[in-house]
Amino acid sequence: MSLVLTDRSLVRSHAYVGGEWCEAEGGTTVPVEDPANGQVIGSVPEMHGIDAVRAIAAAAAALPTWREETAASRGDSLRKWSAAVTAATDDLAAIVTAESGKPLAEARGEVAYAASFLDWYAEEARRAYGEIIPPPQADKRLLVIRQPIGVAAAITPWNFPAAMILRKVAAALAAGCSMVVKPAPQTPLTALALATLAERAGIPAGVLNVVTGSLASSRDIGTAICESPVVRALSFTGSTAAGIALAQQAAATVKKVSLELGGNASLVVFDDADLEAAVAGAVAAKFRNAGQTCVCANRIYVQAGIHDAFVEHFTAAVRGLKVGPGAERDVTVGPLIDSRAVAKVTGLVDEALASGGVANLGGKPDGRGGHFFEPTVLTRVNASMRLAREEIFGPVAPVFRFETEAEALELANATEFGLASYFFSRDVSRCFRVAEQLECGMVGINTGMLSTAVAPFGGVKASGIGREGGRYGMDEYQELKYLCFGEIHS
Ligand code: NAP
Repeated sequence: MSLVLTDRSLVRSHAYVGGEWCEAEGGTTVPVEDPANGQVIGSVPEMHGIDAVRAIAAAAAALPTWREETAASRGDSLRKWSAAVTAATDDLAAIVTAESGKPLAEARGEVAYAASFLDWYAEEARRAYGEIIPPPQADKRLLVIRQPIGVAAAITPWNFPAAMILRKVAAALAAGCSMVVKPAPQTPLTALALATLAERAGIPAGVLNVVTGSLASSRDIGTAICESPVVRALSFTGSTAAGIALAQQAAATVKKVSLELGGNASLVVFDDADLEAAVAGAVAAKFRNAGQTCVCANRIYVQAGIHDAFVEHFTAAVRGLKVGPGAERDVTVGPLIDSRAVAKVTGLVDEALASGGVANLGGKPDGRGGHFFEPTVLTRVNASMRLAREEIFGPVAPVFRFETEAEALELANATEFGLASYFFSRDVSRCFRVAEQLECGMVGINTGMLSTAVAPFGGVKASGIGREGGRYGMDEYQELKYLCFGEIHS
């Protein structure tokens, strides 16, 4: 075990269902590995559909009491949980780094970001306002109230093992829902540590349930969740292909589905940009989490007048990144999650190089072996290459050259995805013009970092349905009910 923690009890080997720490019905377990070195750092129950059904029943049993609590009381519980998460930052960050590979500084940032959703929704719980509608008849009074949708489920990916869970759970619990969470098989330890802290903070048994699985049993758990008529909302973060499959399965029980799916973010640098800010923004937007975030800049478009200067400065900045295990001091680019990811990124780069692309920096798996890939800058790339159309999900930055604003917009929008886009310009009119025409859910203007708990996160087109965070995030876990009073006489 390489995981050294102050509070070792945060590392669980059991799942959390109905307030009990339990094994899988089938009794099997699955190891959790550190992607930096392949070491086994823990093991968790390999649950299946039958276990998910048990968790759904536990969530249903806990629902009536939880939803009857006042919003202020639910908010207090979330605030206590947030305090517990923040107090355990060092240990949680160590777990996040050990199972996801990201650098420790980024893991600490993720823990703070994750806790910020608990804080935000602790407050938002009290603002679940309804509406009074002016009636069309004098003897009627019309009201709209918001009610918790019921039992909700979350299926989350490995790239933000803490934040993707709390972004969903905080909103669901604030709304008065109970929840079943299925974390990614690569990163269940963070989810279970969060559940441990929830239990200590007094979140009642059954309100939060964590069902762990393996790559082999995920589908079975997903099917049980999707097919259950008890589960009224499903929130999924992951690839577009998996999101489509889950939405199709969930359709039979007419669930409310929110999908945070894949991206193919463009980052456009116009001639009038502040070069230094554009370089810093592009490094931040591309190389965070070794390029494995849904909002990572996938395609960097640079206008002809600034192209060469940008490439020179950007390449120098990328050369300064340090590759290594996330737990090592000063490392800024950790390993990719697994060997499949290395093979995929290698394939995309090889195809670009074989089709005329040039590697100004990097271009292959890192010499230290394992799951590490060299931070890479590619030029002479074009729109027909696969890396322009697919999510790279690795530390590879293709830099494309363009001439006009219209061309940049056309290139940026030429994708089935529509999650995030970024651009750099000092012309205010252009900023509004371009931001309004980009087909995506989020736009970073003169910044490479846009995620925050207080703003709505989500995409358009194949990048998803629904929003998380901000005052819109709780909508996914609420139903509107219209009340029509008759016989009101003055
Ligand atoms: P993925 O393959 O779609 O998997 C995401 C999670 O869903 C995993 O835990 C996976 O488990 C599970 N899953 C997939 N199909 C399932 C099914 N039918 N039933 C139950 N569980 C199922 O994606 P990933 O490779 O882990 O994550 C990377 C993707 O997530 C990228 O496309 C990225 O853009 C996207 N992402 C989007 C956002 C956003 O907010 N829009 C945020 C982060 C990541 P298994 O691994 O066992 O299949």
